[in-house]
This record gives sequence, structure tokens and C-alpha cells, in this order.
Amino acid sequence: MTQAVSRREVIKTMAKSAVALTVSLAAIKSEASSAERGKRRWAMYFDVSKCYGCMACVVACAAENNVPIGSFRTWVERHVVGDGVIVFVPKQCNHCDNPPCVRPCPTGATFKRDDGLVLVNDDLCIGCGACIEACPYGARYANPIKGVADKCTFCEHRIHLGLLPACVETCPTGARVFGDISDPESVISRILAKTATQRLKLESGAEPMIFYRDLPEVANK
Ligand code: SF4
Ligand code: SF4
Ligand code: SF4
Repeated sequence: MTQAVSRREVIKTMAKSAVALTVSLAAIKSEASSAERGKRRWAMYFDVSKCYGCMACVVACAAENNVPIGSFRTWVERHVVGDGVIVFVPKQCNHCDNPPCVRPCPTGATFKRDDGLVLVNDDLCIGCGACIEACPYGARYANPIKGVADKCTFCEHRIHLGLLPACVETCPTGARVFGDISDPESVISRILAKTATQRLKLESGAEPMIFYRDLPEVANK
């Protein structure tokens, strides 16, 4: 009897998980469907007013991507603004439209894909560090385990399967939004259409593809 009850519980739990997965996949499907209508351009939106610095995104990213201890693909800065208010500002690779990290790579290991993702081909990277030096955002690190340059990939392995990046899925407040800005109906496009946003260090000419709401000037570095 006890076994029968626990089996029922297991089935119930599995059913709940299946519903959750269906909801999650349905949400992604609406993003994925834009691919059928044209070329994707992945981007992120950070609502600084919704970030309370819990670091769930940082932990999720490290676990998902096997980030070495002491390195970060994403981090959350703490800033005190003029009136003494503390704000938290998430940062990571901006998957720039004009990425300064690509040009100095001597082997072509760092490259920009058609959908905007800036990635590293581990097989070609010789670990020279030229891209790390060239990134105006400090978004890259030398991976001591793999011996290559490393950084945020927008969780390419997940979005390829129609899943959200780990940091976006984990954020409990919805401070992070990911999607296809070439699709005017995507969630991110609809947010960007009605929200005043800022981007980091535009003077670098890198054309970063992360859009911030309520970015304090002190964090624009
Ligand atoms: Fe390259 Fe840095 Fe731009 Fe990322 S943020 S694409 S690493 S220049
Ligand atoms: Fe890390 Fe993926 Fe988020 Fe990039 S998109 S910061 S790799 S979890
Ligand atoms: Fe901010 Fe969301 Fe990251 Fe928490 S998980 S630190 S709220 S961006």
C-alpha cells in the first residue's frame, strides 16, 4: 500500500514536471517560431530596477557551464548611487555587433555567428589572450582547465534546443529577458519598443547587444 501511494506520488510529480516542461517549451516555441520568419538576432535586456543581487544567475551560470572557480561568465556589480541607494547591475559578454575581440584573434577561433552570437572555437584557440585584452567590457577570462579563452555563450547549447539561457531561467524577479530582436513579436522586442534603454560603453564602437533599463551612470563601464 505504502509502495502504491508513493508510486502515485511519483506519477503525480512526473505529471507536474511534464506540465512545467510543456509550459517552458511553449514559451520558447514562440521565440523559436521567429526563426521560420527570418534571421534571428539574439539579445538580452536587463531591468536593473528588478535586480536585487541574489546572485542566482551567477550560480546557475557556473553550474550550467562548468565555469572554473574564480572565473565568471556573468557577475553582478553593486553600486551606490548619489542618494545612497544601492543598485545591482548584472554584466556579461554583450555579444557585440562590432566585436573588438574578434579582430585580434590570430587563428579565427573567436568569431561572430550569423545570429549575433560571438563564440570561441576551442579547437582553434591557442590561449594567447589577445581577445581578453581587446574586450572593452572585461567579459573574457582564460580558462585554466581548457587552456583557451572563455566567456558567456548566451548558453548556445541551450537555446539551440529551444531552452532559455540558464541565468534567465533562474532569475527569480524577471530582471533578465532573452530573445530574438529580429522578431517584432518576441517578448524582448515588445519590451524594447516601449522602454527607454541604455547600453554599456557605446563610445567603444562595439555595439553591445545587451540593453539596460535604469542603468546608473556609475555602472557604465
Ligand atoms: Fe567580445 Fe567583449 Fe563584446 Fe563579448 S563583450 S563580444 S567578449 S568584445
Ligand atoms: Fe552564463 Fe549562459 Fe547566462 Fe551567458 S547566457 S551568463 S553563459 S548562463
Ligand atoms: Fe539580479 Fe536576477 Fe541575477 Fe538575482 S538572478 S542577481 S535578481 S539578475
